[in-house]
Amino acid sequence: MTTKRKAEKVTPAVEATEKPAPGNTLAAASAAGTTPIRIRMYRQGLGDCFLIILPGMSGPFYLVIDCGVVLGTDQNGIQKLKDAVNDITKETGGKIDLLVVTHEHWDHVSGFSQAKDVIGEKWDVTQVWTAWTEDPKDPLANKLRAERQKAEEALRVAAIRLNEVGATDQGNRVDSLLDFFGAASGSTADALAYAKGLAGKNLRFCQPGEPPITLPDLPKFRFYVLGPPKDERLLRKSDPAKGEAYGLDDGSTASNAMFINALKRPANAIAQDAFAEDATLDNPFEGRFQIPLNRAQRLQFFDDHYFGGLKDGSLTDLKTTTKVHDQSWRRIDGTWLDTSETLALALDAATNNTSLVLAIEVIDTGEILLFPGDAQAGNWLSWQDLKWTEEDTKGKDVVTTGPELLARTIFYKVGHHGSHNATLSQKGLELMTRDGLIAMIPVDHAMALKKRWGKMPLPDLVDRLNTLMQGRVLRIDDAATTSEELEAARPATTSPQDWEAFTSRIAISDLYFELSI
Ligand SMILES: [Zn+2]
Repeated sequence: MTTKRKAEKVTPAVEATEKPAPGNTLAAASAAGTTPIRIRMYRQGLGDCFLIILPGMSGPFYLVIDCGVVLGTDQNGIQKLKDAVNDITKETGGKIDLLVVTHEHWDHVSGFSQAKDVIGEKWDVTQVWTAWTEDPKDPLANKLRAERQKAEEALRVAAIRLNEVGATDQGNRVDSLLDFFGAASGSTADALAYAKGLAGKNLRFCQPGEPPITLPDLPKFRFYVLGPPKDERLLRKSDPAKGEAYGLDDGSTASNAMFINALKRPANAIAQDAFAEDATLDNPFEGRFQIPLNRAQRLQFFDDHYFGGLKDGSLTDLKTTTKVHDQSWRRIDGTWLDTSETLALALDAATNNTSLVLAIEVIDTGEILLFPGDAQAGNWLSWQDLKWTEEDTKGKDVVTTGPELLARTIFYKVGHHGSHNATLSQKGLELMTRDGLIAMIPVDHAMALKKRWGKMPLPDLVDRLNTLMQGRVLRIDDAATTSEELEAARPATTSPQDWEAFTSRIAISDLYFELSI
């Protein structure tokens, strides 16, 4: 893959003077002390908060991408997010040149509520970027947002109903998924709205495939917008098909179809059902054929067959050959609400898929820093067809494609905390073939476990990242909080020299990892 710079149509305020030397890379520039790029991942818990410091025209250019931690994080974690905001304030002097908010989930925006006082008082934000899906003037964005809002409201009701019918496990799972939207209906939308307003009118709704964005203060960089796609079909495709990602088996592929189908049903119909008098979601029986649960329990027949313990010893567990007494498995009272868990998953995935995806290009070297938010399968797939055509200095067309940007990637912020559906394989990570690729995963597995998301991060994906990058993968929940600990964590397959070359570029504390390139 060539590292030659593509001539750009959009002329930066200051021309990059030297032609890149063949083989010029960020690492070489960094060694020469000429291109200090710093990427700081805060360690507040399960959520994204990044400070990226780029060499600008008039000193450091400060870019913040997202600022949040998942709902249910304890006070220590919330305090850590506040510490992160204070640290950003200290590092930048409050001058935030660009604030990017990838999507409307609490674990990406909670800071704009929890640390609003500091941000409001001390941050001076020059401009804010979000995805086109946040544009109130975009009809498709408005349609999708209205759908999601109705589904969220319906699910809040469904979670209560699940608890009422005794399906507390499911109720809790739906609640966990709704936590992405904050403690109460609208709280995440409010935090996002606050962030969007931080630069007044300097709010940009980024469009996939628009000409690369250049900023006068940042002549050596430009921004490609990869997603979210404008194609509704891809926008609704959250989960990868078999073979498109890591660690997928037939089971998960089957459930993928369920998630997608759940969203196909208009959310407003679901909402109407949830609020209807007979309060059923897909209830197969008309009201006159139903007996309320609490009444059934008091009737002898139902008590004998569905509620009380089975006394006649007529049932035996096939595996253990012990007699079965508990009859709760015979009841299907909460089963109709299974849909709500599926819908909750689909709703979260649909919101993740509205993530703004930015590829930040170092113009001199063509190298890419990839920040995909929590983009899921359909978002990733849409990058395959993206093309940017620009004229070079001789008036000849030069085409840059989505896959080419992936091939030039040297830093990858792993999508959706390392989930199964947010890093594609052949049309994603396997295309990132540059030597020296480094990844950061904003994940806290202990917290994910509390949320019952046991496969966050997905072990198969983490393994593949580590193999491809020889262990150059930093996680928020990494045990190391000092340089010595990080140095000692060298994978057996990585040479001491290579590990030293990597760790010497990392500043580490319990508050953040900072990578210099
Ligand atoms: Zn997230």
